[in-house]
Amino acid sequence: DSIANQIAAGEVIQRPASVVKELIENSIDAGATQIQVIIKDAGRTLIQVIDNGKGMSATDARIAFERHATSKIQKVDDLFSLTTMGFRGEALPSIAAISQVEVKTRREEDEIGTLLSISGSKVEKQEAVSCTKGTIISVKNIFFNVPARRKFLKSNESERRNILMEIERIVLAHPDIEFLLFENEMQTLQLPPSVLRKRIVQLEGKNINQQLIKINEETTLGKIYGYVTKPESAKKSRASQFFFVNGRFIRHPYFHRAVMTAFEHLLQPNENPAYFIYFEVDPASIDVNIHPTKTEVKFENEQALWQILMVTIKEALGKFNALPPI
Ligand code: ADP
Ligand code: MG
Repeated sequence: DSIANQIAAGEVIQRPASVVKELIENSIDAGATQIQVIIKDAGRTLIQVIDNGKGMSATDARIAFERHATSKIQKVDDLFSLTTMGFRGEALPSIAAISQVEVKTRREEDEIGTLLSISGSKVEKQEAVSCTKGTIISVKNIFFNVPARRKFLKSNESERRNILMEIERIVLAHPDIEFLLFENEMQTLQLPPSVLRKRIVQLEGKNINQQLIKINEETTLGKIYGYVTKPESAKKSRASQFFFVNGRFIRHPYFHRAVMTAFEHLLQPNENPAYFIYFEVDPASIDVNIHPTKTEVKFENEQALWQILMVTIKEALGKFNALPPI
């Protein structure tokens, strides 16, 4: 069974960044308003996530590490009306299968919290502990029991880049949540709770502020909002380009072409605008169930949305061009 767990874990947990992503998403699902992430050695030796969310009871903490023990799906139909980030109940058991995990958690209504240690899927101890409301999960020595996978971790620089990329996607999707990142005892990110435009500036630097053009379109298919950058600030290098749907980062090459079509004739060859585009649609009209890591999403009305997105950006760019500079 522990072998089966390790194999299943490989689907969800490919590298330290996957752990970071899954833990932060759980904190968000738990209603946290502040999330701290502590990383050592690019996540090789320690990934710790501290939240002020609703916490778990002693029993719930134990159950959380059993495969498919998600608390987020009550019935199969719920799969089609997802409002939370996680839904498969795979992350924690997968993480615990390939690392040494310690959880400290307490709910508001409980006087005392619980401390649970699991190593390679084996519960080592659980005891009462006093702690603040919320959850602290520490993941140590990832792949300690899967040498083949540990060997395939990339350089610290590369693992770190992946972690930062996952964090960037999540913090852009949740500007109202405060995020702190500490790497090897140094604070490397401090993002106070904010609104979208300010969160983008917090991440990209203040130069981007005067480059941002707002888009905001409500249709019967849902809402599309966010920012694209002015054509003259487009770069030949890789630009920050993000799509989100219902609070989740997604990859969407088809919608990317809609953006590029809107920018047609406004860019030099190989130039890239930055964009931060958010869809809010009926959860029943998308399918996030394509892959365990959930960045591929299929929309029901993709062609119509393509058109709306393209026209919305084109109009925003047109309006911007028509206005005299302020
Ligand atoms: P999923 O998120 O798909 O439900 P996970 O394996 O990520 O599955 O988590 C299992 C369960 O553990 C969650 O459904 C939730 O009930 C609980 N849980 C995990 N992390 C937290 C947290 N930070 N705060 C409160 N509950 C949590
Ligand atoms: Mg989860």
